[in-house]
Amino acid sequence: MIESLVEKQRNFFLSGKTKDVKFRKIYLKKLRKAIIDYEDDVCTALYNDFKKPKFEAMASETQFALSELNHAIENIEEWSGPKRVSSTWVNFPSADYIYSQPYGNTLIIAPWNYPFLLIMSPLIGALAAGNTAVVKPSELTPNTSQVIENIIKTVFDEEYVCAVQGGVDISQKLLSNKWDYIFFTGSTKVGKIVYKSAAEHLTPVTLELGGKNPCIVDESALVQIAAKRIAWGKFLNAGQTCIAPDYILVHKNVKEKLVNALKKSITGFFGENIESSTDFARITTQAHYENLKSMLRDEEILFGGDFNDDTLFLSPTLVNEPTLNSKIMEGEIFGPLLPIISYETEKDISRLISNYDKPLALYVFSKKKKFQEKIIDQYSFGGGTINDTVIQITNSQLPFGGIGSSGVGHYQGKHSFDIFSHKKAIIKKGYWPELPLRYAPYNIPLQFVKKLKYLFR
Ligand code: NAD
Repeated sequence: MIESLVEKQRNFFLSGKTKDVKFRKIYLKKLRKAIIDYEDDVCTALYNDFKKPKFEAMASETQFALSELNHAIENIEEWSGPKRVSSTWVNFPSADYIYSQPYGNTLIIAPWNYPFLLIMSPLIGALAAGNTAVVKPSELTPNTSQVIENIIKTVFDEEYVCAVQGGVDISQKLLSNKWDYIFFTGSTKVGKIVYKSAAEHLTPVTLELGGKNPCIVDESALVQIAAKRIAWGKFLNAGQTCIAPDYILVHKNVKEKLVNALKKSITGFFGENIESSTDFARITTQAHYENLKSMLRDEEILFGGDFNDDTLFLSPTLVNEPTLNSKIMEGEIFGPLLPIISYETEKDISRLISNYDKPLALYVFSKKKKFQEKIIDQYSFGGGTINDTVIQITNSQLPFGGIGSSGVGHYQGKHSFDIFSHKKAIIKKGYWPELPLRYAPYNIPLQFVKKLKYLFR
């Protein structure tokens, strides 16, 4: 079934229909209409999958996807046309261009934490750039995956875009085919498997992976506001956000103040009885829930630590000074547990951050510009925010992606169009003048050849 689907999409791409920008725009608009029509179904499915609050479902999934769609629809003509670049003297006269051409048949694999957005957002880029797509949503959010399939069936013939549901087996079957581009969002572990499969066919990839994101709070930070913004970024989606702050590094002189402010913020957001709040999501899978719970064993809990095995509820939890070899500090937490570690000197910060692979995000709360710049310069990470968390994803002008083990490549807005397009270099020349200088026999004095370096630009 998968082979024949791939074959159908290959033939459809070869038919040239997706090369037509008008065709692409029509389908982006159809997709927009379908997302608007199905918005309530998406929100209900997300609620049924992990009690995602409707506000979060709309703000971080459907409306986010619609904003990406609007941006693509408005700009597709401009993005798709050839871009003229300056010519060089050595080719004078010539007209030089970069043509954006679709790769062809693309595969998009998504995780469960933002199960709708992380299918739609890359799909919009793939279609705007003129590709076909097979999307594989996560098997761990079955309700949302079903709505995704319904939307795609409503809008597209399967030879253009198709949703294939399934778990690891299906994912691997899909990966064993030859694709022209693979876009994967998920864990670093599976990212490596995807990278290996892609290497078989030298298929280009974007890998959007995870990491352990530090959040630094220095002595000069406005602690009350910092606490609110950290608590928001961390407990959104119950901490199951790839760019959520993973742990806090706080200057020892403001630690107590920060902890108190965090407690106040959490209670302010979700009330005294957090389990009854409709604004706080649940952990998506049993296995993930058990893993998170086990991270709390032997830790000193400053706040929270409540759970319900029947509903996979795990409350926002502040963990005091875990050691580096504790389970909670081993890898990405990906849940509502927030370790708080104090530091005294910048060396302490460096020692801790350097203990981990390059993170997807890093946050700094400080009023000191020099300190902010130093951190931006000193550490390698995907992207971040000064004096806030998570919001670097909300500007589609900014590239979104990781570095090293947190990912390969970046997307959003025009960046999505660009990653799904091959950039073809074209120089257009006429027949005049026809200078004999470059042809053998080479009679030009070598002194002249030495000047060529000024003519290749
Ligand atoms: P995952 O890697 O387990 O699964 C992602 C997808 O890969 C799923 O569709 C799954 O079916 C498939 N898959 C799983 N195992 C596979 C295998 N062995 N071979 C082939 N395919 C396989 O990730 P997850 O648990 O669903 O999501 C959580 C991870 O995703 C976290 O690490 C998080 O940081 C990361 N993430 C990253 C971003 C980002 O934009 N960088 C966004 C969201 C989530």
